[in-house]
Amino acid sequence: MSDQPWTGGQVTERASVVLCPNPGPMTLDGTNTWVLHSPSTDQAVVIDPGPLDEEHLDAVEAHVAKLGATVELTLVTHAHFDHDEGVPRWIERTGSAVRGAGRGEALRHDERITVGDIDLHVLLTPGHTKDSVSFVWADEQLLLTGDSVLGRGTSIVAYPDGNLAQYLDSLDTLHVAAQEGGLTLAPGHGPTALDASAVIDFYRRHRGERLQQVRDALAGGANTAPDVAQAVVEQVYADVPKAVWPAAKATVLAQLEYLQA
Ligand SMILES: [Zn+2]
Repeated sequence: MSDQPWTGGQVTERASVVLCPNPGPMTLDGTNTWVLHSPSTDQAVVIDPGPLDEEHLDAVEAHVAKLGATVELTLVTHAHFDHDEGVPRWIERTGSAVRGAGRGEALRHDERITVGDIDLHVLLTPGHTKDSVSFVWADEQLLLTGDSVLGRGTSIVAYPDGNLAQYLDSLDTLHVAAQEGGLTLAPGHGPTALDASAVIDFYRRHRGERLQQVRDALAGGANTAPDVAQAVVEQVYADVPKAVWPAAKATVLAQLEYLQA
């Protein structure tokens, strides 16, 4: 994982990122809008149009036009606004079909989606949110993860919609896919990483460490605090910026739920 600024651009021969200018503590460099290209049929698949930002949608449309393609299908990795809010406007502008995040026909685990010479394998990967999905594009060796795995730092479990037990299972699913395919991480925020399986391994270790820290904080007295989750955040997440403490608290609530289960 790199600390260099990430600006998107061409990632593989047929996959590129138009970076949305919405950087922040939760969105890192901004939302990655992925454009997948089928040159033989002049079609494109767009993943995560991003928030409602006309200039960004202009940039995505211009990029697709530069490829000489039209948008056949838009996929949404999950219903968080920084991925999904711009979708209705995007569909209005492009006339694209749409699936994911409760829009269009529901995505099914292990489903194959084919658009021209783009062949995607759908993985349902709940945990960050209930509706989180990922896509394997085996031909380009890409693992498109939305917010389930990010290009920098770690993701959150957005309790109560998100669920830690599901998230840990999803990391296992993603790890198997990454290892089998030798896949590059193609995240919803932040840079790509050549070895997706190594990043996912780090995520699994990190979640295990955080869980142990939460157990220790509870045993050390956080258990009896008026706001248990807040007391845990202040101890366990002392190392992260306060701007992300609300998100950390959601993850702590998910961890408390997990430990009680
Ligand atoms: Zn999200």
